[in-house]
Amino acid sequence: MKSIKTNDPSANSQRPECRMGLLIQDAYGIFSELQVQCVGTPADDMEEYCRALEGKPCCFLGIKVLQRITRGKAPGLFSLIDSLWPPLAPIKIHGQSQEQAQVRDNLPAPSFCYILAMRHEKSRDNIKQAHVATDLYLPPVIHSLEEILQMAALNQRCSFWATVIYMKSETQSNLPRHKELLLYVTDPTLQVASETTRSPKVMTVCVLPPCTLNKTLQEIFANNLPCSIFFKDAVKENGSIICVERTVLSLQKPLLSCTSGISELTGTVKLDELDSSTAANTLCTVKGVVIGVNETESYSWPVCNLCGSNKLRPLPERRYTFYCCQCSSDISSPVIRMQLEVFLQCPARPQCKVTLKLREETIASILGSCNSEDGRYELSAVMGKELGPIHCYVQQAAGMVSLEEISLLQAASSGDR
Ligand SMILES: [Zn+2]
Repeated sequence: MKSIKTNDPSANSQRPECRMGLLIQDAYGIFSELQVQCVGTPADDMEEYCRALEGKPCCFLGIKVLQRITRGKAPGLFSLIDSLWPPLAPIKIHGQSQEQAQVRDNLPAPSFCYILAMRHEKSRDNIKQAHVATDLYLPPVIHSLEEILQMAALNQRCSFWATVIYMKSETQSNLPRHKELLLYVTDPTLQVASETTRSPKVMTVCVLPPCTLNKTLQEIFANNLPCSIFFKDAVKENGSIICVERTVLSLQKPLLSCTSGISELTGTVKLDELDSSTAANTLCTVKGVVIGVNETESYSWPVCNLCGSNKLRPLPERRYTFYCCQCSSDISSPVIRMQLEVFLQCPARPQCKVTLKLREETIASILGSCNSEDGRYELSAVMGKELGPIHCYVQQAAGMVSLEEISLLQAASSGDR
């Protein structure tokens, strides 16, 4: 039995109701996906509950068969089943004694499975769990990112423990609540990859909407990176890793970590340097000399020093004084926000037009004392400046290169949480 999903559709209702998906296998080797509607279990307890069930023989009471499903109808489900096949222990064959149990080498891969459903109430004991582990259970094999890069098979499930250093979310225009997340991950094997292998230092993991993240993870990705995450049963597809339905992301360090040589990432994260192989939507570092300022993308604006709103109205009677429409206060010392995009001459891409949108901290350090009160740029303070290495997100890499400076905190700080 393998837990593959927890969901929390009604966290605020009086009786908390969650759903979990379990992949179960019987003694005959038949797989089923069991959708359990849990009544009375708070969402926070679900992860713990799933973990306690995983790998244990269980007796489920009150199961309903929803569907018998074949390989072609559910490739995602079968890629997960394939990752658990052949079973570790011999399976029973109908009409044969235990001694004749089929040896694992010549077992055909499962061609069908069942979709089952049940309702589970905490007070009613309809999931009976044995406390010994079953020998049918195959715990996830934890790979390093370097090993995953080398995997040749298509649509193969893989599990890994990696540090998420940066996140980018993209809302699909037609489905406003369906966000696609891009997570930038690395581990010690990618960071120290030798000069001879052309491995990237950072890989991209795409989290597609059917893969649900709990609130804790959503918060961490938005505010508390870098952070080490266990990705269970992600899919390696062509060159990238995707998290789909039945992929589980958690903060729980995998149990096998001591034996499989997984180590924590510490210190400063290294990114690949910008070169001709740099692709869009990746991270890189850039070095270069400022040869111009993109005037249309460079400006400054005042915001309220009390609430941060930019809804300020100038008060004509008093100079440099504003009225904040958000918090209804008179503001005499607004904060000046700045945006600056520069053109760079980069030794790594000499023939190429490179634009770089800078962070405000960097702008402030470049402008230094030249920064006038109202935030107007002194062009002479910027031109000819040598910048870098600067961490960047690559918005565009074909034709011209558009970069956006990003902030990466030290990976070691994630260990404090
Ligand atoms: Zn305000």
